[in-house]
Amino acid sequence: MADLDEILRAAKSNSGPAVLLTGAGISAESGIPTFRGEEGYWRVGSKNYQPTEMATWATFSRMPDEVWAWYLYRRGICRAAAPNAAHRAVRALEETLEDRFVLITQNVDGLHLRAGSTEPRTYQIHGNIDFMRCADECTEALYRIPDEVDATWDKGRKIDVATREHLLCPACGTRARPHVLWFDESYDEIHFRFESSLAAAAEAAILIVVGTTGQTNLPLHVGSMVAERGAPMIFVNPEPTTFTRMVDDNPLGLFLEGTAGDHLPGLLASVAEALATP
Ligand code: NAD
Ligand code: ZN
Repeated sequence: MADLDEILRAAKSNSGPAVLLTGAGISAESGIPTFRGEEGYWRVGSKNYQPTEMATWATFSRMPDEVWAWYLYRRGICRAAAPNAAHRAVRALEETLEDRFVLITQNVDGLHLRAGSTEPRTYQIHGNIDFMRCADECTEALYRIPDEVDATWDKGRKIDVATREHLLCPACGTRARPHVLWFDESYDEIHFRFESSLAAAAEAAILIVVGTTGQTNLPLHVGSMVAERGAPMIFVNPEPTTFTRMVDDNPLGLFLEGTAGDHLPGLLASVAEALATP
């Protein structure tokens, strides 16, 4: 492990972008639960389903109303939440670095965009819970979930006829689906910025990973690519995860134990200062 000054000096000597990779942990202080813990499961009838079962095409094709109800419930939590100091610190770093900045987020809550991060530099690699698209893929278009759909959704509430009619593809009238990447689906460029994320990892002057366990494929791949290059890498999380080993093994790696709110405002101000000065 290296110290911060050494890491920032190394980052400065490389012309690539500063890349931020965020997970559910960065939104925990906004009151959005991560997938771990008891908030994770969803009850249908007498059975409890884990997110890894609910968030699949297989489950959606079997019980679309129940999957939609779970998403509308989670969407309600996301809409009621506000960006926190860590989201704002990420936006401030983008404002300083502009095109020398990329944000890769696993979060579907849209809080980075609401904090002012810009869409072209924000790769929402697992989608956005406020949007839907055609389940039959008649078009690649994304549609914001219509305002007529209630902004909050109680646990246990069923999808009614009126709501179901708003959750249809505007182009062909068939059922729409949440615009999220499910566990039995693959990344692509058009919806999830797959190639763009790999390109950012290949060039990153520094990678800062925040609030993620690293259980999904693309985030791990991004981390490994940067680790294999021996490029500077910082991991911020209250507890060790897969990314801890990556930074432990990297001579230019650093693990900052603690929350996003504790570390990001100060850390990203230092990154901005180091990379912005010639
Ligand atoms: P995860 O739930 O698996 O892990 C979250 C990590 O954040 C944990 O390691 C935890 O220790 C850490 N954490 C908790 N509080 C924190 C804080 N205050 N500051 C920093 N870190 C904190 O989440 P994941 O790895 O992002 O992956 C789960 C999947 O679930 C993703 O694919 C994502 O799309 C989805 N998801 C999204 C949201 C969201 O949009 N906010 C919420 C839950 C799950
Ligand atoms: Zn359609």
